[in-house]
Amino acid sequence: MNSNQVPTVSIQGSSILVVDDTPNNLYLLTQTLERQSYQVRTAISGRMALSMAEMYLPDLILLDIRMPGMDGYEVCTKLKENPITWEIPVLFISASGDVAGKVAAFSVGGVDYINKPFELIEVLARVETHLKMRSLQKQLQAQNISLQKEISEISGFNHQLCDALRLNVQRQGFELYYQPIVNLLTERVEGFEALIRWYDPKLGFISPIEFIPLAESTGLILPLGEWVIAEATKQLGIWVRKFTHLPNLTININVSAKQLSDPNLVDYVCQSIRDANLSFSQVRLEITESAVIENQENVIKVLELLTSLGIKICIDDFGIGYSSLRRLHDFPISILKIDQSFIRNGEWVIVNAICQLAKALKMEVVPEGIETKEQLEKILETEACDRGQGYHFAKPMPVLATEAYIEKARKRDSQKAENNNV
Ligand code: C2E
Ligand code: CA
Ligand code: CA
Repeated sequence: MNSNQVPTVSIQGSSILVVDDTPNNLYLLTQTLERQSYQVRTAISGRMALSMAEMYLPDLILLDIRMPGMDGYEVCTKLKENPITWEIPVLFISASGDVAGKVAAFSVGGVDYINKPFELIEVLARVETHLKMRSLQKQLQAQNISLQKEISEISGFNHQLCDALRLNVQRQGFELYYQPIVNLLTERVEGFEALIRWYDPKLGFISPIEFIPLAESTGLILPLGEWVIAEATKQLGIWVRKFTHLPNLTININVSAKQLSDPNLVDYVCQSIRDANLSFSQVRLEITESAVIENQENVIKVLELLTSLGIKICIDDFGIGYSSLRRLHDFPISILKIDQSFIRNGEWVIVNAICQLAKALKMEVVPEGIETKEQLEKILETEACDRGQGYHFAKPMPVLATEAYIEKARKRDSQKAENNNV
């Protein structure tokens, strides 16, 4: 529906769930409603009503109050608490005509109340009214969504995504995935890059490529980034203690330009490392070229302070921005991560040049996005890369899958060692 169209109300074929433990009532109501061309389903207990409501999402529920086990009030409360069923209007039917009962019906979220024994004409009139209201409400919601879409297209700002992001930052509803960073010669895991993931029940999976820029422009990147740092270091601490054969594992954490100007950054990085019982040399912060180049003197100071503690700074996606090499040299940078587009496009001359540059500047160089054996071989030819990362070794994984990956690699290594001893 177009946003400036007037909604039309059609309730023909609407679906109604009738809940009553008395078969006679069910029969009577079903007959009457079906004669009006409504689709009717019935439930004879509260529990049955809850699961049917969730399964069929009716347009309206007629609910008896007095039922054995779960009564109508409890059923209604549960329907209103469930994000799937809370919007379905509930019309109560009850034999007790007392005021307290009616008040209770409204207070648990009912929209209306009919006294037993009911007049069928009255039931039909009320049903029709509530179905019309529900239909209008649905159409207005649809209009609202399409209006919001139009607004965000015009203004380039997605309010719905922004609200969802703010809420998820508040409830810390993100997850971190971990992608192994391996020694290119032995292919053994030496560290991980923490990559954020967001699943929203309404919007589905949202890529960090979409929401990180939004977090940056709204300032939400500060609380979000703090959470990432605390969570990633905490997880590495757990793994170092759990997998005692990997005491020197490192963790790479992506840090946005905005975070570098946050006066609290150094404090919470240090605090997180201490809380996780890690040494500073196990933590590597990834920043982009532009974050370094565009920022002013205070950023140099922050990076120098972090480096003096033993934390390493990586330049992420190196080669696609326009760094002034001299300016880059002014910064305390230990690692260049070669942007994955060079590997994907087979631009080996450039990869080689970056490797030689890194060598001359005494920096480590880590190619990203290695997907095939052929790409790995080309990279090994440079004789300049110690570590690398990409789907050829492993994709980013949630915690449990990462642990299974470490376990599997350990077993494979000890098997190899045994075979060598035989
Ligand atoms: P990035 O830092 O360059 O991360 C590498 C991206 O490449 C990740 O995408 C990863 O899943 C993907 N990748 C890894 N290996 C391969 C490969 O072999 N082939 C291909 N085609 N892709 C590969 P992801 O996880 O979607 O992250 C996208 C970007 O979002 C990241 O790029 C980073 O800039 C940003 N990001 C992710 N997590 C965070 C975070 O916690 N904080 C901040 N500030 N940014 C983050
Ligand atoms: Ca990165
Ligand atoms: Ca990158």
